[in-house]
Amino acid sequence: MRKNVAVVLVGLSLVLTACSGDSSTPADSVSQPSEQPAGFDGDTSTSDEATATCKSGAPREGDTLKVVTSVSPLTSLAGTLAAGTGIEVTGLVPEGTNSHTFEPPPSVAKELAEADLVVVNGLGLEDPILEMAAANMKDGAVLCEVGTAVILRSEWIFDFSFPQEAGRPNPHAWTNPPSVLSYLTVIRDAMTQMLPSTIQVVDENYVKVSKLINDLDAAMITATDTVPVRNRKLLTYHDSFPYTARRYGYEIIGAIQPQSFSDPTPADVASLIKQVKDEQVPAVFGSEVFPSPVLEQIGKEAGVRYVDTLRDDDLPGEVDDPEHSWGGLMRYDFVTIVEALGGDASALKAVEVDLGIKDKAYYPQ
Ligand SMILES: [Zn+2]
Repeated sequence: MRKNVAVVLVGLSLVLTACSGDSSTPADSVSQPSEQPAGFDGDTSTSDEATATCKSGAPREGDTLKVVTSVSPLTSLAGTLAAGTGIEVTGLVPEGTNSHTFEPPPSVAKELAEADLVVVNGLGLEDPILEMAAANMKDGAVLCEVGTAVILRSEWIFDFSFPQEAGRPNPHAWTNPPSVLSYLTVIRDAMTQMLPSTIQVVDENYVKVSKLINDLDAAMITATDTVPVRNRKLLTYHDSFPYTARRYGYEIIGAIQPQSFSDPTPADVASLIKQVKDEQVPAVFGSEVFPSPVLEQIGKEAGVRYVDTLRDDDLPGEVDDPEHSWGGLMRYDFVTIVEALGGDASALKAVEVDLGIKDKAYYPQ
C-alpha cells in the first residue's frame, strides 16, 4: 500500500510541476528520456520527430486553433482542455470502430490538411492516419504522438496480441490514469504554446481533469484492495488493460485476440479453457466493439461468468452526457472489472466524472 501511495504522490507532484507556468519543456517534465522513446520496424525517425515537434509548435496569429485527434478518449481529453477557448477539436475515428484497423477515408485527409495540431496516441496505433498526415499536413502544423512521447521504450508492454517480433507495443496506455496525466500535460503544453492567449483557461481545465485522474487512480487502488487477491486476474478478448494491470496489481492471464484480429485457433482456446479452470478466475471479459463468441464459449466451458461490456476507446453514454468522456470510460471499465472479480466498487462509483465542463469536441459517429 505504501508503494501505491508513493506513486500517487509522484503523480500529484507532476501536476504541481506542470502547473507551475513553465511550459517550455513539457515533454521533458513527463518523460525524462534517459532512453529515447523510439519508433517501430527499426525506423526511429518518425516518432522521434513527432516527439520533438510536439514540443516546438510556434505561436499562431489570431485566437483560434484547429486540433485534430484520433480516438475518442484523446478527443475527450483535448476537447475538455479546449472548453471556453477558440480551440476547436475534431476526432477522426468514429466510436464503435476498430481503431487498430481503421483506414481513414478521404474526408480525413481534408481534416488533416486544415489542422494546426494533430494529436494521436502513437505507439503504432494509427499508422494509416500518420501516413495520411505526412502527405497532407500544412507547413508549420504540429504532429503530436502523445503515447510515444510519454511511454518510454523500457515501459512498453508486448504480449500475445502485440508481440515483440512485430515491433509494436501494446498501445493502450490511455486506460492507465498515471499515463494519462502525462498525456494531458503534453496536449496542454502543445495547445498553449501554439495559442498562448488560452493559457489561463486551458490551465483551469487542466487542473480539473488532473484532479479527476488522481481521484480515479486513488479510487482504483482502494477498490482493488477489496478484490480477493486470488481473483486479481484478467482474461480479456481485446487486450486493452496491460498498463492498467501493471499499475494496480492485476495479472493478465491471457488475451485472446491474435495480432491479426482474427479468431484464435482451437488449440489456443482449449489451453485458455484449461487455464481459466486451473486459476479459478470468477469472470472473463469481452468488449463491446469486439463481440466474441470464442470468449463466450470459454466462459461457458470453464464455468465462469462472461462479461462482454468492457470498452476500449468507445465512450459510454451519448455525446453531451458527462460520462461520454475519458473519465466516464475509465470509471465504467474499472467498476465493471472490480465488481466482476468480487470486489466493492463504491470508491470508484463515488468519483465525480462531471467536471462542469462542456467539452469542445466533435465526435464522428
Ligand atoms: Zn484497442
